[in-house]
Amino acid sequence: MSLGTLLTAAELDAADPLADLRHEFELPDGTYLIGNSLGALPRAARDHVNVELDRWATLGGEGHFTGDLAWKGYHDLLTRQLADITGARPDEVVAMNSLTVNLHLLLVSFYRPTADRHKILIEDHAFPSDHFAVESQIRQRGLDPETSLVTVSPREGEEVLRPEDLLAAIAEHGDELAVVLLPGVQYYTGQVLPMADIVAAGHEVGALVGFDLAHAIGNIELELHDWGVDFAVWCSYKYLNGGPGGVGGAFVHHDHVDDQDLPKFLGWWGTDPATRFEMATRFVPIPTVESWQLSNAPVLPMAALRASLDLVDRVGGMAALRAKAERQIDYLDRRLTETLAGRVENVTPKALAERGCQHALRVVAGDGQRVFRALQEEHVFCDWREPDVIRVAPVPLYNSFADIDRLVDVLDQTVS
Ligand SMILES: *Cc1c(COP(=O)(O)O)cnc(C)c1O
Repeated sequence: MSLGTLLTAAELDAADPLADLRHEFELPDGTYLIGNSLGALPRAARDHVNVELDRWATLGGEGHFTGDLAWKGYHDLLTRQLADITGARPDEVVAMNSLTVNLHLLLVSFYRPTADRHKILIEDHAFPSDHFAVESQIRQRGLDPETSLVTVSPREGEEVLRPEDLLAAIAEHGDELAVVLLPGVQYYTGQVLPMADIVAAGHEVGALVGFDLAHAIGNIELELHDWGVDFAVWCSYKYLNGGPGGVGGAFVHHDHVDDQDLPKFLGWWGTDPATRFEMATRFVPIPTVESWQLSNAPVLPMAALRASLDLVDRVGGMAALRAKAERQIDYLDRRLTETLAGRVENVTPKALAERGCQHALRVVAGDGQRVFRALQEEHVFCDWREPDVIRVAPVPLYNSFADIDRLVDVLDQTVS
């Protein structure tokens, strides 16, 4: 047990090297614990967006080609930082589109079913968009989800997937498995899945392995390249604070980025920028993940996202954020045990390696939704996920230990 478990919120905040970062954000009035759903607004996002609005006003179309911020290469400005955050090489990551669009684009390339190897393995009750994307990809190939979609569930009476059950399911479907597609962090329970082990198990049976990192990016440390992940997608509006509908991203492993045998949906932003504006119709793929780009980049959401990526740089990267997150997890656990034992349970796994910033709280007896509404009324922002959990996420960039106290105090007053 760390020394921190004995300290008060005020003491922990006073000792927190990241405490001042909170002032870099504009937060709604109250206690903002919903960064797992929509990250807070970094103040500098306004400046970055205003710069682009000014450039638009003064340069017009020349903004595409003028200066360090030229819009034709704007996505490049985010690449090094996204690579650091995901544990990737710069040729493996790109900011583009939105999560579900990217998932479709990468399944076009990485789901190549044959008569024998045609299954995709996902979790039961995956995030609906992921489920829809996978089902429709299977149908698109003339196959039937009844036979080509494999789902893995927690055991009867349990809340979270057992890693050994996932690995066993991968082994069981073995030769028939084309793709394993799982979340890095489960959106409902907050469980972190053992990505490196899943990749190893998938590759062992000859399957490709992809991850949805919606709840993982900016939350936990990732080593996508070293783990050998084949592909991954994310959105930026959760822990990356990219703003509503912000630009998503994609990772394709170096081993695949220049594989010209992969089927791919093409657009003009994937072709060599040196010849792009000659408007020729021969596609010359950029030899990086950028060849999956379709359209010219959404500059305004990308500008907003840069503010938060800069803050991650400023603190020294994900390791520093994770160190604080672990102290916040410890503190929340301790406060829940002290104050709400038997009244509120935490569905999220106990072990630090299996959890990130988000906690899935369940009111043991009584109406969870009433408690959720009471939290809203007290301006403790969290979210409700059917059937019965309240998700809260103290995040190291802008949440204090005092925020955790406030959450626990309102729960204490509200839960019988
Ligand atoms: C948030 C989230 C999405 C959102 O998809 P969009 O395409 O960005 O709307 C998808 N999948 C998971 C698992 C998510 O948590």
